[in-house]
Amino acid sequence: STATALEEEPIKPAVQVEHTQLLIGGKFVDALSGKTFPTLDPRTGEVIAHVAEGHSEDVDRAVAAARKAFDQGPWPKMTAYERQRILLRAADLLEKHNDELAALETWDNGKPYEQSAQIEIPMLVRLFRYYAGWADKIHGMTVPADGQYHVQTLHEPIGVAGQIIPWNFPLLMFAWKVGPALACGNTIVLKTAEQTPLSALYAAKLFHEAGLPEGVLNVVSGFGPTAGAALASHMDVDKLAFTGSTDTGKVVLELAARSNLKPVTLELGGKSPFIVCEDADVDQAVELAHFALFFNQGQCCCAGSRTYVHEHVYDEFVEKAKARALKRIVGDPFKSGIEQGPQIDSEQFEKILKYIRSGVQSGATLETGGDRLGSKGFYVQPTVFSNVEDGMLIAKEEIFGPVQSILKFKDLDEVIERANNTRYGLAAGVFTKNIDTANTLTRALRVGTVWVNCFDTFDAAIPFGGYKMSGQGREKGEYSLKNYLQVKAVRYV
Ligand code: ADP
Repeated sequence: STATALEEEPIKPAVQVEHTQLLIGGKFVDALSGKTFPTLDPRTGEVIAHVAEGHSEDVDRAVAAARKAFDQGPWPKMTAYERQRILLRAADLLEKHNDELAALETWDNGKPYEQSAQIEIPMLVRLFRYYAGWADKIHGMTVPADGQYHVQTLHEPIGVAGQIIPWNFPLLMFAWKVGPALACGNTIVLKTAEQTPLSALYAAKLFHEAGLPEGVLNVVSGFGPTAGAALASHMDVDKLAFTGSTDTGKVVLELAARSNLKPVTLELGGKSPFIVCEDADVDQAVELAHFALFFNQGQCCCAGSRTYVHEHVYDEFVEKAKARALKRIVGDPFKSGIEQGPQIDSEQFEKILKYIRSGVQSGATLETGGDRLGSKGFYVQPTVFSNVEDGMLIAKEEIFGPVQSILKFKDLDEVIERANNTRYGLAAGVFTKNIDTANTLTRALRVGTVWVNCFDTFDAAIPFGGYKMSGQGREKGEYSLKNYLQVKAVRYV
């Protein structure tokens, strides 16, 4: 019945695409080359709009606008209170346009509209209010020194920030990057992902309506190896923040090093364990493990993509995890009650199906799913593998799709070693009522976030980032401010 429903005409989004140009120096402009690229509706693969395609000469223009706004414009010099008020007004406007932003996000990305409208846009608003709160609370220290000195540290904005974001949470990634950079008084050139350029342009326009001076926030749509690489290697960009795959993270870090040694924050891939302990209430554990993996079509860097289950509850868990996946409601993300929409694009869709084939070939048991859903767009059946072994590709590599891999374990020491035996270290889930077990696991796991009896809960104030090859630095919370500040030591005698 789900498959039949997918053959129906897609629901028409209740929003117009107003902005498809680059936003440079406070104005919407075409790319200098005049080129555009299509952004597609993941439900059908059809074109939503043609968007200006920024190249290095456009990045040059955007960086020049950001430089001018930083060196000569009012933004870094205005009082922190004024900056705060602009950010709060922007948050009010984002809130007022909740439904349009949510519709654009779902149209371009394919995520359920209810998730966009009821969770993600409210989180976006909350993030900007949180960072507005920081704007007038950034200050240095006085430091005692030997001799007749008075010493102080000044925390100054770092300058022009280059920011490159992915397509899985276009607006939340916009907020994680733009919020702290603006609160600290920097100017920005942001490159959106080529799959999802629309919502950031709309949001950035609202910042200008809120009174953000021109040139402070520039948005360039375009591709990674052209626009993205130009930003990462630009000599006049003072700071780079990147979220995306680990492979691309290595590339941008190298570009930053080879150009002007700009400091880099990286938020990269993951293969996060979700550990279901012996004492777990299996029904609850199944539900949470399901959410940890399938949320956002499985397209989360922190997805709980290695479900480790204690041998005493393993058989029951597998049976129920399969039943839960079979009940998952997949369909047009604009429909009410839908849990899962299409994957982002044909490349990701094909990659997921390839990993599913690899799981079957390597001897894992395909409990349910395993194929596309419907005949158009990029829908994938909720898929569950059991009897997964650590060495299989589906247990080692990031699939970024609705494919759950269930592995069996015997004791805590073993599962700690196996959970940590990965190049990644982004997040982990722990499911237990035993406080000793929870303590042992949270301390032993080498990851940036541990969720105990919860998963994928995010707050503006809580830092997020990776150990090992999942990244460098932390975003959100107070920790993110230091990504966007220079420290100047001043001595007076
Ligand atoms: P994904 O595989 O999830 O699309 P990527 O890491 O390729 O992840 O993409 C994340 C962001 O990085 C996107 O905005 C993309 O355009 C950008 N990007 C991709 N390749 C490069 C590159 N060589 N230099 C700079 N940015 C890049």
